Amino acid sequence: MTLSGKTAIITGSNSGIGLGIAWEMARAGADVVLNSFTDRDEDHAIAAEISKETGTKARYIQADMSKGSQCRALIEKAGTCDILVNNAGIQHVAPIEAFPEDKWDAIIAINLSSAFHTTAAALPMMRKAGWGRVINVASAHGLTASPYKSAYIAAKHGVVGLTKTTALETAEEPITANAICPGYVLTPLVESQIPDTMKEYGMSREDVIKNVMLTRQPSKEFATVEQLGGTAVFLASPAAAQITGTTISVDGGWTAL
Ligand code: NAD
Repeated sequence: MTLSGKTAIITGSNSGIGLGIAWEMARAGADVVLNSFTDRDEDHAIAAEISKETGTKARYIQADMSKGSQCRALIEKAGTCDILVNNAGIQHVAPIEAFPEDKWDAIIAINLSSAFHTTAAALPMMRKAGWGRVINVASAHGLTASPYKSAYIAAKHGVVGLTKTTALETAEEPITANAICPGYVLTPLVESQIPDTMKEYGMSREDVIKNVMLTRQPSKEFATVEQLGGTAVFLASPAAAQITGTTISVDGGWTAL
């Protein structure tokens, strides 16, 4: 299989997009390291299920991506890192003048600074192995803006900038760095917002999805975690060896508007 013999570390991967990427990486033959800040039996059970279903080695390592030292410790504990997927992320919505300072700091730490720390720890391992892939999960909001999401948008634009710099610093080596920019993806986080929005607007589920959530997504369909996993596997494949320092949008046409 394409990724046999490779180890992929995916931050923030006990749910949603990160978990989808972990599954597709494992299906492509990679050993995967799952992560979040919790350390519950169910976190380890997800890793066991991936191992059982795919025949690859999957582990769960607890580390809080809001802390630089723990970001670096995650990579060190994993021991090897051929593919690094920086995916952990949170959101908070408020106008700039009312945006809580602690939320700003947490979003910048988890959505942006964690990728700096993990990349710094992983590059020496990739250089030693003579091969590496850095895949950063940014967002359509890494390329465009919306009101009330200042910290998230600043962080995601920052991730795109970090991706370009990583690519230039590794350009003459067999290492690439790219960012995936998803539009709206139907993760548990997004799914859980649908009932409240239906109540708030007195709308059907279909209307909330099409006319509230997907107003900026011309396809009027969510991207799926499997599609994002497939995109990450492609970026790790030999076909993508000369793709570096760029963004791939998986957004149903959002950024074409
Ligand atoms: P999610 O809430 O399902 O996943 C976020 C993951 O990050 C979870 O596994 C969570 O445990 C983890 N996490 C949060 N704080 C952490 C911390 N301090 N340390 C370690 N892990 C932590 O949401 P998702 O929609 O799957 O989002 C994943 C990524 O995709 C995020 O970076 C998000 O910004 C990005 N994204 C999501 C969408 C979307 O529509 N769902 C669109 C564009 C980009």
